[in-house]
Amino acid sequence: MTTPALVVGAGPVGLAAALALRAHGLPVVLLEADPEGRERPGSRALFVHRETLDLLEGMRPGLATTIAAYGQTWHTKRTLYRGREVYARTFPPPTGTPPFTSLRQVDTERFLLAACEDAGVRFVWDARITGVHTDPAGTRLTDADGRTWEGTHAVAADGARSAVRRELGIPLEGTHGEGFHVVVDVADIPGAELPLERVFHYEHPALGHRSVMRVPFTGGFQLDLQCRDDDTAEEYGTEDAVRRWLPEVVGDGYGDRVLWVSTYRFLRKVAAVFTDPHRRVLLAGEAAHLFPPFGARGMNSGIADAAAAARAIADGTPEAVAGFAEVRRAAGLFNSAAAGTALDHLRPRRRIVRVKQRAAAALAPVVPRCGAWLEHAPYGPRHGAPAAAGRKY
Ligand SMILES: Cc1cc2nc3c(=O)[nH]c(=O)nc-3n(C[C@H](O)[C@H](O)[C@H](O)COP(=O)(O)OP(=O)(O)OC[C@H]3O[C@@H](n4cnc5c(N)ncnc54)[C@H](O)[C@@H]3O)c2cc1C
Repeated sequence: MTTPALVVGAGPVGLAAALALRAHGLPVVLLEADPEGRERPGSRALFVHRETLDLLEGMRPGLATTIAAYGQTWHTKRTLYRGREVYARTFPPPTGTPPFTSLRQVDTERFLLAACEDAGVRFVWDARITGVHTDPAGTRLTDADGRTWEGTHAVAADGARSAVRRELGIPLEGTHGEGFHVVVDVADIPGAELPLERVFHYEHPALGHRSVMRVPFTGGFQLDLQCRDDDTAEEYGTEDAVRRWLPEVVGDGYGDRVLWVSTYRFLRKVAAVFTDPHRRVLLAGEAAHLFPPFGARGMNSGIADAAAAARAIADGTPEAVAGFAEVRRAAGLFNSAAAGTALDHLRPRRRIVRVKQRAAAALAPVVPRCGAWLEHAPYGPRHGAPAAAGRKY
């Protein structure tokens, strides 16, 4: 039997890597620690950007259409500052692939999993990888039960606490910001859905001038509240606390429709290298990098890693894997810096940034450029990624 490529982790990045490897005609074994049929909570990464849809379509024709048809694409974006609208724009509906689609990560994973099964990926559930051996000929992975799998290469997509990365002795480098934000998933009230628009509210007057964003997804919406460094999770991040402040943002009636609440801290970390000395293991997704979620760079850049890893494995040469590692690490550093810029805007450390935002809000009615700046800045720069990556993320 031909030696397969191994993938560790059935999150969105591992599933995309497995699909991409199948699209190159390679046999794939995907090893996942959790049992089959596991449930993953929370909306997590909502946005699937056009670039990612195009990549997924290349991995499995029809997949992007299926995901985009299920997700939500809104045409109106609004920004408010202390209760006053400073930016509103409604775009014409797109022709062809939408600029993004918004759905819960659990739904994106459901579509990816079905596509992997159709494409002939072999799944091994309940396989928690604990040992990694590489040499010039290939790689061997061992799980907690002592079972082993051999492959030409392995894609490590086993998430933020990657055992594969740890076994290879690769450190994550970067920073850990202060404070947290609160992420809340809320189900729509059937027949009384809120307008299909994304609303960002700077310094909401009813929330002690904390900023809050509402993002729709299929079946509900996510609220993202920026807390201050001295706020506690008890004040803002528990289910009881959320039920107290929720009506200020979306009105009454949602108290029993809260699906999930989590607090999220700001890590900006990138692996020191994205492969091992023998060029047999390729790190992808959160195994390779952690970003704050602003600009939706986590899952989208992870799927770009997955596509690039599969291309390098299909090429088969150590040089191709080294090229993957260099280009995707450069993309990771760019994404980390871009998310840091967004973070500085959303959680200003310096008073001057707040003053600039206040001035822009005051000028927005007469200088539309100021409103546009307030609208775009929370997502960080969208251009400037390393040219070699050939993409935005
Ligand atoms: C609580 C939470 C909230 C989030 N909220 C947002 C958000 O609001 N917006 C946003 O953009 N992103 C968010 N994210 C991040 C987003 O979920 C990630 O970017 C995305 O899941 C990364 O995908 P991945 O496949 O790299 O890793 P993961 O999704 O973590 O998948 C890793 C997979 O590997 C498996 N695994 C782990 N260890 C092993 C092992 N040793 N052997 C075998 N399998 C293993 C895990 O079970 C899992 O299935 C959130 C993440 C979390 C945890």
